[in-house]
Amino acid sequence: MRQMKKEPDNLNQAYKYCFKCGNRLFEEAEICPKCGVRQQNTTAPVKTSNRNKLTAALFALLLGGIGAHKFYLGKAGDGVVYLLFCWTGIPFIAGIIEGLVLLSMSESEFDQKYNQLDQPKQPKQKKSSGILPIIFVAIVFAFIIIALLS
Ligand SMILES: [Zn+2]
Repeated sequence: MRQMKKEPDNLNQAYKYCFKCGNRLFEEAEICPKCGVRQQNTTAPVKTSNRNKLTAALFALLLGGIGAHKFYLGKAGDGVVYLLFCWTGIPFIAGIIEGLVLLSMSESEFDQKYNQLDQPKQPKQKKSSGILPIIFVAIVFAFIIIALLS
């Protein structure tokens, strides 16, 4: 029986070569299975930007009401929405919530989310809007109801 060497037929699969023995490795491989040498991290995902988690969180907490953190994180469209609604005070609340979310995020999570925006390979992460818009809408409705009742 001919032993088929398991060659991934996916041509998009990226390879690199062990710098020690030349064995072909998957791009993501950290250790060469042949010689056991840890690979130098030359193929680490390149940060497309260098946004700082703490800065973003502070922007959200202190200036979230005018969408400062959104502009900082490259989501200018969201920032404009915050600006438009800043007179309601709601973006301030949303900003505080988002600031806390940012603070609770790990650095790598943050990097993945906000510093590798141009990375094409994240198929599993369907752009989820999360619960923040829902909270936002709920608060808007609450305000409207309060306004109607008063
Ligand atoms: Zn090797």
